[in-house]
Amino acid sequence: MNYLSTRGHPDRKRFCEILLEGLAPDGGLYLPEHYPQIDTATLARWRELPYAELAFEILSLYIDDIPPADLKAICAKTYTAEVFGSDEIVPLRELEDGVYLEALSNGPTLAFKDMAMQLLGNLFEYELARRGAELNILGATSGDTGSAAEYAMRGKKGVRVFMTSPDGRMSPFQQAQMFSLQDQNIHNIAISGVFDDCQDIVKAVSNDLGFKRKYRIGTVNSINWARLLAQVVYYFAGYFQAAASNDKPVSFTVPSGNFGNVCAGHVARMMGLPIQTLVVATNENDVLDEFFRTGIYRVRAAADTHETSSPSMDISKASNFERFVFDLVGRDAGKLRSLFVDELGRHGRFDLSADPAFRQAAERFGFKSSRSTHADRLATIRDTDRRFATLVDPHTADGLKAAREHLAPGVPMVVLETALPIKFAATLVEALGHEPARPARFEGIEALPKRVVKLPADAEAVKAYIAQNCD
Ligand SMILES: *Cc1c(COP(=O)(O)O)cnc(C)c1O
Repeated sequence: MNYLSTRGHPDRKRFCEILLEGLAPDGGLYLPEHYPQIDTATLARWRELPYAELAFEILSLYIDDIPPADLKAICAKTYTAEVFGSDEIVPLRELEDGVYLEALSNGPTLAFKDMAMQLLGNLFEYELARRGAELNILGATSGDTGSAAEYAMRGKKGVRVFMTSPDGRMSPFQQAQMFSLQDQNIHNIAISGVFDDCQDIVKAVSNDLGFKRKYRIGTVNSINWARLLAQVVYYFAGYFQAAASNDKPVSFTVPSGNFGNVCAGHVARMMGLPIQTLVVATNENDVLDEFFRTGIYRVRAAADTHETSSPSMDISKASNFERFVFDLVGRDAGKLRSLFVDELGRHGRFDLSADPAFRQAAERFGFKSSRSTHADRLATIRDTDRRFATLVDPHTADGLKAAREHLAPGVPMVVLETALPIKFAATLVEALGHEPARPARFEGIEALPKRVVKLPADAEAVKAYIAQNCD
């Protein structure tokens, strides 16, 4: 399988090259040249497989530069009951008639990002050892990505992590999860700014090709294709649990921020998995909901990004969205570029409301969307506790509310549970008056010593810090 850039760069690459690379040289995102098509016989075979073997089958359609036996071993080492808490890895639970929660948050950091990041850690270690190379991972996090990356990379040979986060904007539990790590290869950098400032810094450093090469900078942000690919697997696993047979459609609702999670659903659907609807759930930062309702994509300024109680969705510019738009415009890189890049190379705004491609989008690609507010979140958390004795985190609550707005008779609706409630305890307390249960291994982490530096929202300052800490 070869990979291309959404912005039309002529080079084609293989999986292990883009694994360590992040953005394409022209600023585009990597996508496979085509989506492998799954027939019903293959679905029938995959239905019977344990998660790690299903992951191997799906990954091997996209990865042809790792020997199959090695890839199989990497999958087996990654997706264990020991790491993810159950043999199913992503168990499905029926909440009410036809509405299911798919548990993706029982990994080391209690958010769905572990599903991909744990695999990425093992892929990086494998590929770096094979090349005899080192990698410095530069990332941006509003909370969950950073901890998932650090827990996946801690102690791994050949890897350092430099993780930027918006100073003071993560929950105390999230901060403690990250900043309490004392591993020498993990560097926490608190930036005076919002998440988008952190993301802009990562992009600026990655666009400095000289620096990127000299310091062997890589990324683990959701633009990394390997992460997206790992996430495709749990759409299949969720489908097999929700659909009684392989000719039945299932819908998914996905609490969304950078559009990485739901983009994996899009890929699964393009491969032929019978997904009827992909519901994009947003919070008050509704740039994606606005697009799917109107066809207008209007990036917000950092100052207009609301700080909400589902903070991992506080995003004004969804970095994976370009992948979907590439498919939407018929994989026309010229058209894609004209939408995303103005004369100054900036992302801005585009309007597809009159474009036939957009008007057919819901039907062709199955996308729908919804928006939630803080009040909705509290109401959903209370209601889910009262009626089903189940605690959901604020992001999953946004998903549940959105799911109920798009139910179709006879079509199971799977809501992806993206985090456990303990990560966002303050909102749970506000809704219910008490703290959610905390897994024993996280008892008292807020009191542990913290390892973090504070820097201004300035790419040069971050470059200087990386240079200092790279010998
Ligand atoms: C990262 C995250 C999201 C958003 O996922 P994207 O892939 O960025 O759309 C939603 N909920 C939680 C809890 C997250 O950690």
